[in-house]
Amino acid sequence: MVAGAAGFIGSHLCERLVEQGADVVGVDNMLTGCKDNLAALDASPRFRLIEHDVTAPLTLKGNVDLVLHLASPASPRDYRRLPIATLKSGALGTLHLLELAQAKQARFVLASTSEVYGDPLEHPQFESYWGNVNPIGPRSVYDEAKRFAEALTASFRRDCAIETSIVRIFNTYGPRMRPDDGRAVPAFLHQALTSVPLTVAGDGSQTRSLCYIADTVAGILAAAAHGHLGPVNIGNPQEVTILELAETIRDLCRSTSPITFVPLPFDDPKRRCPDITTARKLLGWTPQVNLMDGLAHTLAATTAVREQIASDT
Ligand code: NAD
Ligand code: UDP
Repeated sequence: MVAGAAGFIGSHLCERLVEQGADVVGVDNMLTGCKDNLAALDASPRFRLIEHDVTAPLTLKGNVDLVLHLASPASPRDYRRLPIATLKSGALGTLHLLELAQAKQARFVLASTSEVYGDPLEHPQFESYWGNVNPIGPRSVYDEAKRFAEALTASFRRDCAIETSIVRIFNTYGPRMRPDDGRAVPAFLHQALTSVPLTVAGDGSQTRSLCYIADTVAGILAAAAHGHLGPVNIGNPQEVTILELAETIRDLCRSTSPITFVPLPFDDPKRRCPDITTARKLLGWTPQVNLMDGLAHTLAATTAVREQIASDT
């Protein structure tokens, strides 16, 4: 069972699971996702979608052996416009999905985030780092919801004898991110392709480490198969500044869009890079796709969608 199935990561995860021969139930309330993301599974007898908000309890008929919880707004733009829904997804959503996993004696995997490290004071970030989070800032609705979700997940494992894993996903990109979801890669791609200025926040010296979607999905599934409690970082340690990222995407698109500097959002983390020793050693997982190749795949998919929309209208 995949909660958040119609979202960016969830839809790729469902496709990969079905390819591997699993029967998958996707659950989503379409808050930030859409059914089109699951179009490739429309005809599959192995997949079915249930429209449901996981902040309400959920029952499913039959056996379930794995519950993957990805149901939460994830883009800063989304969680700032949906603060209470984000807090509820991390708190009530996680509780209800853990209860479902307990009732089914299923393994549970929480999609947590590098945001639990906040604006980190240690670099790179190891799983042992407890983070530097502003508990009342605008990002806290996401960061603290995920920190609570981690605590709940760890407690169910400790106190309720169910197998749980926590994956801390770092910035992931790839096909199917909404052009308007506000995250850096889709924003810069969309801006470069429509010949408008690329909006770099601050002076662009803040860093992120970007992981291609296929690698993130493989990492989540490796953690699910292993059953390691975690937390385990899933990310690509190839760190870039946001200005470099904007310039790279502009060049890749052969765009002449200028770069414009816009105010840095409050509490925007200055540096972010995962240490992935745990994932390497324990799960045998390392990212395979470098940034240039991943961006080229993303551009090709984005261009194909744009051409399809143009031919439909
Ligand atoms: P997304 O917004 O594309 O997908 C989230 C999905 O969850 C959407 O389809 C949305 O409709 C659904 N959803 C939200 N609240 C729900 C609810 N209450 N009930 C049912 N469905 C609900 O985001 P994404 O980038 O695919 O992220 C998926 C998960 O991975 C999130 O939990 C996010 O915190 C985590 N994550 C993502 C990244 C990243 O870089 N994409 C990084 C770290 C963690
Ligand atoms: N960013 C930017 N311009 C944009 C969107 C994002 O400069 O149009 C910056 C943002 O301020 C942050 C980085 O890019 O420093 C990554 O932002 P994103 O929203 O992709 O993910 P985050 O890591 O902040 O959750």
